[in-house]
Amino acid sequence: MDSCSKCSRDSIIFLAYVKKHLCQKHFIELFEKRARKTIRTDCPIKKGMRVAVGLSGGKDSTVMLNILADLQKDLPFELVAVTIDEGIKGYRNNSLEAAKIEAKKRNVEHHIFTFKAQTGHTLDEIMEIKKKETPCSYCGVIRRHTLNKAAREVNADVIAIGHNLDDIAQTVLINIMRNEPLRLVRFGETVVEDKKFVPRIRPLAHAPEREVAVYALAKGFTVDFEECPYAQKAFRMQIRNHLNDLEEKYPGTKFKIANSFATMQPLLKKGLEDTIAKNELKYCVRCKDPTTTELCMFCKMVEGIDEDARDIKKTAP
Ligand code: SF4
Ligand code: ZN
Ligand code: ZN
Repeated sequence: MDSCSKCSRDSIIFLAYVKKHLCQKHFIELFEKRARKTIRTDCPIKKGMRVAVGLSGGKDSTVMLNILADLQKDLPFELVAVTIDEGIKGYRNNSLEAAKIEAKKRNVEHHIFTFKAQTGHTLDEIMEIKKKETPCSYCGVIRRHTLNKAAREVNADVIAIGHNLDDIAQTVLINIMRNEPLRLVRFGETVVEDKKFVPRIRPLAHAPEREVAVYALAKGFTVDFEECPYAQKAFRMQIRNHLNDLEEKYPGTKFKIANSFATMQPLLKKGLEDTIAKNELKYCVRCKDPTTTELCMFCKMVEGIDEDARDIKKTAP
């Protein structure tokens, strides 16, 4: 076994992008130092703030919850955990249990919001109605809407999202490949100038997914490592696999994509000023959430699901 590049202990991980082997102690130190730096520079949490953690029970959000709970020792702020239950049989139940255990362990108030309560259907039921559609496109819109609403209901000042470096590099590539420059401009924006949008922070934005998993294991957190059964159908999964191949051949690729994006985003924003101005925020005629169209994406989706559900009922024998 290789030994740590900083001491004589056995290494538990090799970080190819800096060519370093690290033991458990030095890896934990590096991971926590980096997360704290991200919070300090990109996610300003102020004294007395109420921070909602989007807690799924998976490794990213569990690690984020624990990092933020540790930070409370130095900075007095409130934490509240919010779990969104999409209604995916055989998957969400396990992660929900893991989320409950970790929230209780850290003494964090925990609230659960469901797709069923928001839309009248679980994600499984939606996929029964919308058989030809991709689950993730429905799940993403409904989850974003529900999380924002949940954060307002628990009186949070910000929502902490467990996006890691891989999620960010993937999203940048997906939006380029789909020719979605406006989404790129808005991606990762902490504050949207509207009181109905709860600002979002990403404390793990500089943590590679593999390192989040190793950290969760090293710390012995209760985590559900199982993947969503719908994940394999997602375009994101293909990008994820390609990016992992590239990272193996060219270590540091994911950091480089995220860093290039951080440099390019302000230029893109400047170049698209006119288009951004034309897409001014207004309020959805139905749910009153901020949107750039008459009816927001969430309400459009729910309307489409209900229409199809009615048609299916009518034609049922
Ligand atoms: Fe939702 Fe897709 Fe993630 Fe599953 S993989 S939880 S369907 S976004
Ligand atoms: Zn060491
Ligand atoms: Zn709406």
